[in-house]
Amino acid sequence: MKIAVFSTKSYDQEYFEKYNDKYNYSFSFYETALNVDTAKLTTGNDVVCVFVNDVVDKATIKVLASNGVKLIALRCAGYNNVDLEAAENHNIKVVRVPAYSPEAVAEHALALILTLNRKTHKAYNRVREGNFSLKNLIGFNLNTKTIGVIGTGKIGATFCKILNGFGCKIIAYDIAENEEVVAMGVEFLSLEEVCAQADIISLHCPLNKHTKHIVNKESIATMKDGVMIINTSRGALINTADTIEGLIKKKIGYLGIDVYEQEENLFFEDLSEHIIQDEQILRLMSFPNVLITSHQAYFTKEAMDQITTITLENIKAFENGNELINVVK
Ligand code: NAD
Repeated sequence: MKIAVFSTKSYDQEYFEKYNDKYNYSFSFYETALNVDTAKLTTGNDVVCVFVNDVVDKATIKVLASNGVKLIALRCAGYNNVDLEAAENHNIKVVRVPAYSPEAVAEHALALILTLNRKTHKAYNRVREGNFSLKNLIGFNLNTKTIGVIGTGKIGATFCKILNGFGCKIIAYDIAENEEVVAMGVEFLSLEEVCAQADIISLHCPLNKHTKHIVNKESIATMKDGVMIINTSRGALINTADTIEGLIKKKIGYLGIDVYEQEENLFFEDLSEHIIQDEQILRLMSFPNVLITSHQAYFTKEAMDQITTITLENIKAFENGNELINVVK
């Protein structure tokens, strides 16, 4: 199988090469993202392997089909960046990695909460400069606080389990109640009730037409004053302009995001010598109570092992004409 791997960093290549002995596939690694302009690079490949910010829209898929690509292998769980209808129309199958170490993302959500709350990132810099003052470093106990979880699938459920250990009260909203989560003592409520009652709201639902901008001017208005919002799911779950307004008005007390609506122009790249043109991220970066990480919640050794091996197994199943257990329909 010939596989064109897009949006590749050195660590992606390292993990594919680590596991390729068993498969002996031929990879072409491209640093560039897949889009309609770069799709021409796929000529002669059977498979394209893509990540969260590749643009696999109708126009891109048309080029992939004419180049003979038969499989789109997502090396991630979310598939909001793929036009599934266009793929089906061109008889291209789409597979993904539906579950890989939900602990990786859930633990990162917790890291954002603890960092924002206890300000360890500020303390680290202070102490390095000989500043041992505690001024403005005060946090709050997580114990007994109400945590609102939106989306209680694999990651949301793992997050609930972790927060239970802190003695938090956990409330949740999902379109389908998760029995495992109910058994943990989590109370399922309406979205409005979760927004109104939670001290911390953590988003763990997929991005789709129902969840886009689930955090917006109206929902922010119903939240507690000083609420902490955590998003490790997809950037467009949050309306960025409305969230900035909520921060300026001090309605939102803390914001921790690992994903950002326009992240495809920024994340995963070293732009330290560039002039960043994105006014919204610059505004977000200016708040003392906003913590941004660049889509690294998944990035653990365990998750990379699983992402790579499941992706290779997905491709092997396709090659052998076996059932595609991770097909996206
Ligand atoms: P999952 O499919 O196991 O769970 C998603 C949950 O969201 C399900 O329980 C589903 O019923 C619920 N849901 C669907 N529509 C909803 C709606 N309208 N309102 C409320 N809940 C709704 O998925 P998962 O493995 O837990 O992953 C969740 C998301 O995390 C993924 O879609 C992906 O976008 C994101 N993710 C981010 C990273 C990262 O590195 N930051 C890594 C992996 C996944």
